Amino acid sequence: METQIIDGKSLVAEYQEKMKTQVERMSRIPTLAVILVGNDPASEIYVRHKRQVAERVGIVSELFQLSPVMTQEALIAFIQELNANDKVDGILVQLPLPKHIDADAVIEAIDPNKDADGLTSANLGHLFVGKPNLVPCTPMACLDLLKTVCPVLQGKNVVIVGRSKLVGKPLSQLLLDENCTVTQAHSKTVNLKKVCHEADILIVAVGKPNLITKSFVKKGAIIIDVGINRLKNKKIVGDVDFKKMLGHAAAITPVPGGVGPMTVTMLLHNTIQISKKRQKNN
Ligand code: NAD
Repeated sequence: METQIIDGKSLVAEYQEKMKTQVERMSRIPTLAVILVGNDPASEIYVRHKRQVAERVGIVSELFQLSPVMTQEALIAFIQELNANDKVDGILVQLPLPKHIDADAVIEAIDPNKDADGLTSANLGHLFVGKPNLVPCTPMACLDLLKTVCPVLQGKNVVIVGRSKLVGKPLSQLLLDENCTVTQAHSKTVNLKKVCHEADILIVAVGKPNLITKSFVKKGAIIIDVGINRLKNKKIVGDVDFKKMLGHAAAITPVPGGVGPMTVTMLLHNTIQISKKRQKNN
């Protein structure tokens, strides 16, 4: 069996071209405020990449790099100022935050109508009651990539490994809305191998290199690998043993070059949606 490599890069290029045209037609250029607390090198790389792509599609991104010793109260007050700032459309807080800060409390401080990552409980709630507003970026990215190789998802057996608020849980809802039969596996799942082997579509969002080996995967399954793991030799790999899936899976996303770039694209998609709505309401 020839395994199709799901080409995140070409889908991303197509999306970004469309977004550029959308932005050019808007009466005001959308603005994304990016908050980075501290100077974690991986976070700095992610933020730089997000801002580069924003620039490519014509979105203004303003970086606020704040002190790693900043208090939670001061950070929340800063977000409240951005909430009230008419020039700011989307707000993004780069995670993880320093240990002394409760990330949930900080996310909740974002105005749900400016929540570019779609992670406030208001926006997650909208998704779970079937009235999606701003949807988390990585789950949207997974769904769009999946649809390039499997346009009709109805009735598919999907196993999602991981149940985080960022990826696993919202993705489960998106796939239920596509009429898939969804199983959510996690760290306490008994016999993960057997559970995964039932999947027509296996989506893995854990953060453990080589967690999923060939024996976990039914022949001909589609695999979406969300994991990003930096090995000691600096190489970036996903959660799935990619090489062993070639000739075994029907399709697979590469890491890097799969879900990651598509996630950034979805962040900008959300920013444009926010800006359009605000311009309409003004
Ligand atoms: P998380 O740590 O919040 O959640 C990990 C999940 O994996 C948990 O639900 C846990 O129950 C489950 N898990 C842990 N060990 C397990 C095991 N042995 N077997 C089965 N399940 C297990 O992580 P997250 O924020 O959801 O991110 C997961 C991975 O996806 C990370 O590698 C992260 O870097 C990556 N990620 C990538 C993107 C992207 O754009 N590509 C975006 C977000 C996260």
